Amino acid sequence: MNFNDKQKEEFSFQALGTNCEFIIYGCNAKYIGNIGKREVEIFEKNFSSYDGNSEIGKINKNSGKLTELSRECFDLIKKSIFYSELTEGFFDITIKPLVNLWSVGKDNFNIPSDKTINKYRELVDYKKIELREQSSEIKLNSGQQIDLGAIAKGYMADKLKDIFVTLGVKSGIINLGGNIVLIGSNINEKTWTIGIQDPFENRGEYVGIISLIDKSIVTSGVYERFSIKDNKVYSHIINPKTAYPIVGEILSISIISNKSIDGDGLSTGLYILGIEKSLKILKELNLDGIFITKDKKVIITEGIRKNFILTNEEFNIV
Ligand code: AMP
Ligand code: MG
Repeated sequence: MNFNDKQKEEFSFQALGTNCEFIIYGCNAKYIGNIGKREVEIFEKNFSSYDGNSEIGKINKNSGKLTELSRECFDLIKKSIFYSELTEGFFDITIKPLVNLWSVGKDNFNIPSDKTINKYRELVDYKKIELREQSSEIKLNSGQQIDLGAIAKGYMADKLKDIFVTLGVKSGIINLGGNIVLIGSNINEKTWTIGIQDPFENRGEYVGIISLIDKSIVTSGVYERFSIKDNKVYSHIINPKTAYPIVGEILSISIISNKSIDGDGLSTGLYILGIEKSLKILKELNLDGIFITKDKKVIITEGIRKNFILTNEEFNIV
């Protein structure tokens, strides 16, 4: 290591509807971080489902008709369908009409009528997305709308890591609203220590810490965005089969993987699938996870048990 390796730059900005941060070590850190920031801005412009001029906006406007896509967008949608298959369809990018209907976490949150819920539920089905590989075209079933919000941050975090590593970064952190990707090891202490958020407390209060090197850790949790009505909590994750926001036993699920897209693509669907099925899927895919339940239990997969230290005594590892 030479002196320049210890030079550190920190970036913090709003994008992708969340707080984004980079920490980059090395002599060109400032220049490289700015390139990363620009890449996030370009990606957001192209992939936001709230921008009618983005590629996703165009697909949604063209619902029922064929739309030609960039290869990047086509491949990301294809990959999303792959995660739907892995999670028994609980991860489903055609969820957007239900996300809009419920408006969880927004001021206009309201419980829709059963009739409306049923009408919207019929629109949600990733199997009705038609993809034409040769011409890079997509067609949604008429009325369908897609939202890549549950996978975009993971995809982008991997893309940033590739860019940073190509530009020579050997040590750093990318954090896109809780999608954390570690580059190499921590220059000062070897491993990076990441706090696992206490779902009952304010941001920055932890259940425990995990030490990792060169991995991705992605968390889906109720505490990120929710609404409360008549003492019932409604999370921003919607079960595509019932069309209701999920209120289950799990308050948060963190997935540790090499690729952040795996963590992001899986966390949302596994959250709905519940602990037992999730553990089985993680084992099959050789991935690790940490689950935190309503009754303050912490469930950790074998592969990372040694890396985790419980710091909050109110919780129990089971
Ligand atoms: P994440 O934070 O990665 O779990 O993504 C949650 C976001 O994905 C929500 O805010 C919704 O916009 C969207 N979403 C909610 N439920 C689903 C679902 N079942 N499948 C795919 N996306 C979803
Ligand atoms: Mg996700």
